[in-house]
Amino acid sequence: MFDPAIFGHQAIRQRLLERLEGGKLSGSLLFVGPAGIGKRRVAMELAQRELCFRRNACGQCAGCQLLQTEPLPLELPNLLRIVPEGKAGLIKIGTVRGDDLVEGGVIRWAHQASMANAHRWIVLEDAHRLNGASANMLLKILEEPPSGTHFLLVTHRPEMMLQTIRSRCERISFQPLKAAEAWAIAKAAGWEAADEARWSALSAGTLRYLEAETFQRAEAQLQAWLAIAAGATIAEASESLLPDKTSDTAQSEQMAQCLELLLRLLSDVARLREGRKPELAPWQSELEVVASKPLELKAPLDAIHTALRHLARNPFAESILREVALTLRS
Ligand SMILES: [Zn+2]
Repeated sequence: MFDPAIFGHQAIRQRLLERLEGGKLSGSLLFVGPAGIGKRRVAMELAQRELCFRRNACGQCAGCQLLQTEPLPLELPNLLRIVPEGKAGLIKIGTVRGDDLVEGGVIRWAHQASMANAHRWIVLEDAHRLNGASANMLLKILEEPPSGTHFLLVTHRPEMMLQTIRSRCERISFQPLKAAEAWAIAKAAGWEAADEARWSALSAGTLRYLEAETFQRAEAQLQAWLAIAAGATIAEASESLLPDKTSDTAQSEQMAQCLELLLRLLSDVARLREGRKPELAPWQSELEVVASKPLELKAPLDAIHTALRHLARNPFAESILREVALTLRS
């Protein structure tokens, strides 16, 4: 799963490696960029290099294989993964300070002696899901991690993080994959040429819709937003917009993804009105119907941004959707 041939970000990976080898890598890094582009892989690759018998994350040796199990291990001799848990999808204090993840908590783990010729890597996945107490507990150690320990905070929603956490980390910005890179991975995962235009347009250089089910869901949501904007009632269209309660993805994250699809739809409406090509080109005719309506974009855009800012604290998906959808019905 860490086949170097299948993921991009070459320049960032090279630079991180050079700084690590030169002893110049910051102790606390914040990896920021869209969801589903491989930020976590880049973080894990740093740890994998040190477990690899060939020291290059070859993907073949017994050391690399430690990182190729399903599910991925949470703890290895040089790596600790901190992942959100539960329906709310939070990183809780029991993980940071208690024994929930490792005995004595994360901070103690960070201070233990590292194995020979290796650093200690602590990867916080979806770091925006640190709850307030956990975040405050980590402030001091992020400010000055123990020698040989690196914290890698990975997030696609940095705006949801405490400023005090962000300011203690060096920010590394990741760009989406090139369309061809993303599609090559999709093809290898079984997607067919007939789906390429729709898959690539919706995925926008990410792998978040690699699984057919997540893609179909996003496509249904886009169709639902298009229908509402074209005049369908909210009740008719809203079922696919509501969070899937059986999903492992936190509800607020599902809602954010759903609202972001509407943002993209509205950007395309603006593009069409300016005589430009839409990014969601396979849905151009539906978009044109919406663009021809006397729909003002400001009210829905404001409603979406307000909803996104408050998602973590507002569990009422239906009322959020209704509020946003109503702004489309001018
Ligand atoms: Zn190896």
